[in-house]
Amino acid sequence: MADRDGKIWMDGTMVDWRDAKIHVLTHTLHYGCGAFEGVRAYETPDGTAIFRLREHTERLFNSAKILRMKIPFTVEQVMEAQRDVVRANALKSCYLRPLTWIGSGKLGVSPKGNQIHLMVAAWPWGAYLGEEGLAKGIRVKTSSYTRHHVNITMTQAKAVSNYTNSILANMEATEDGYDEAMLLDASGFVSEGAGENLFIIKKGVVYTPDLSAGALNGITRDTIFAICQDLGLKLVEKRITRDEVYICDEAFFTGTAAEVTPIRELDRVQIGIGARGPITTKIQAAFFDIVGGRNPKYAEWLTRV
Ligand code: PMP
Repeated sequence: MADRDGKIWMDGTMVDWRDAKIHVLTHTLHYGCGAFEGVRAYETPDGTAIFRLREHTERLFNSAKILRMKIPFTVEQVMEAQRDVVRANALKSCYLRPLTWIGSGKLGVSPKGNQIHLMVAAWPWGAYLGEEGLAKGIRVKTSSYTRHHVNITMTQAKAVSNYTNSILANMEATEDGYDEAMLLDASGFVSEGAGENLFIIKKGVVYTPDLSAGALNGITRDTIFAICQDLGLKLVEKRITRDEVYICDEAFFTGTAAEVTPIRELDRVQIGIGARGPITTKIQAAFFDIVGGRNPKYAEWLTRV
């Protein structure tokens, strides 16, 4: 990814893609204390727009706060940086990656006095779990790795270090021939996917794990809450067990990258009809209408670049 044309916003200036480099003694590279966001911009009838830009940017600042990192920019500046990056790279639709990290000033575990940096990159990125996954559903495996307990690395921060757990789970699942992993919390209840929130549907009611299971407070998850309300679907946040997923009627993952991806199988157990279910289909269509600027009710969630 490093060797290509384009621009990356780094600490307040736009630099050439190939020159967006950091030192090997960067604190975050050694100890994993950093935070990032995943954001998407979509083509809409009014031009390219970033979906829920403010919420993503505020979550980045909250992640940094949880990690005791002070970002040396304002929320407004970082929102503007993201719009600038999409424009500078002439992208119609894309994935955006803001990242904040601790510099290379000193390498003791205590980062005190070290500079906090921020960058924003953007590039085209299609369906994270595949176009076929969006249409037909994916195969998921319950991970042998436990999701972080809420008092280990702070699960409401989109912290760099949390993703070692995601990488291990995803690699285990994909090497076993599945598309993605589902992780359980330290008590054995369903938490989330390696990079997605999970929803199940049973007898017309939509359920998702409450955040005490260590799942990230997903912005797509929140969007699904609004969609359920619009569609007159009851939504319940609760503890969910692995076997409840086996016997549910429909299941799907949500995330900025994964969007709304149906799950057709967990641990070789077919879920519902073994394909994208009827309620998932409706929720997914409503989601793509909102992000694509085809639902005026949510126009304020779209920031034109
Ligand atoms: N959980 C994890 C672990 C994630 O990485 C993501 C992706 N950011 C999500 C859930 C979904 O969050 P969002 O909908 O805000 O992208």
